Amino acid sequence: MQNNETFCGYVAIVGRPNVGKSTLLNRILGEKLSITSRKPQTTRHRILGVKTLGAVQTIYVDTPGIHQLETHALNRLMNKTARQALKDVDVVIFVVDSVKWTEEDELVLSLLSNVKCPVILAVNKVDALNDKTVLLSYLPTLTEKLNFVEIIPLSAKRGTNVDVLERKVASLLPESPHYFPATQITDRSPRFRMGEIIREKIVRILGEELPYATSVEIESFQIKHIPMISAIIWVERDGQKPIVIGKNGERLKEIGIRSRVDIEKLLGKKVHLRLWVKVRGGWSDDERALKSLGYIDFLE
Ligand code: GDP
Ligand code: MG
Repeated sequence: MQNNETFCGYVAIVGRPNVGKSTLLNRILGEKLSITSRKPQTTRHRILGVKTLGAVQTIYVDTPGIHQLETHALNRLMNKTARQALKDVDVVIFVVDSVKWTEEDELVLSLLSNVKCPVILAVNKVDALNDKTVLLSYLPTLTEKLNFVEIIPLSAKRGTNVDVLERKVASLLPESPHYFPATQITDRSPRFRMGEIIREKIVRILGEELPYATSVEIESFQIKHIPMISAIIWVERDGQKPIVIGKNGERLKEIGIRSRVDIEKLLGKKVHLRLWVKVRGGWSDDERALKSLGYIDFLE
């Protein structure tokens, strides 16, 4: 490699829910998410994080649709965009959960079948396997599923082998100038990140009871000396409100307390946070409503 050569490219992290994609991304980015608001270079992707190490800049992107809910509108979006979006990246990291291959993995695999760029299979959560020999006999069955450029067993949680994955990714990026300044690591707005924080708490606190198609909208965000943040948690039906609110409002309170801690970390200051639970009937089948919730603003 010559001194003046630089490498830069887009990398999609795909996989069914719960395999550890977010954990992996956080691990790669070192969990430091500073916020700026530069526009992404392409409208087909949302940029999740940018990592610059010397000559190599890796831009991790979200691929719309590939792990979305299976409602009609979302399915349409998936068909329209997922394959195309995957064609526009330089590398795909396909994340699976150790030795558990499911139908949902199969679905993701089918979306990857036409992808021209190299696909790396990241076999995550190997730390959770007591018997590592199970993995050894399992890995060969994965090589038959697709022409992976590499199969890397790793643990996103512990960080094991994540450096191996990163080096492999770097070796596959095209020679190109860097698209972002070296100090920038995301293009997500604080508003978006706050919504994600609240959504994470809802998912954790409600677990299996989480109503289908719950979403969060940050309604107001005024900065005085203490920012006042007001967020709406949208559910689909009246009957789902009590699930989110809990007995005597306990759940909503817990969601609020935990969200506030993380939002304060994000913004580096104290905030007031108000949460509301509202009903938006049938929004998941309405593309306009999806758009207003930020699901598809990257499709234009
Ligand atoms: P995503 O839905 O694919 O983004 O998955 P998450 O990153 O949210 O992870 C889902 C769950 O798997 C969380 O409870 C994580 O803590 C857990 N998890 C992620 N990576 C690992 C790992 O390497 N080992 C173990 N044991 N658990 C993990
Ligand atoms: Mg995730």
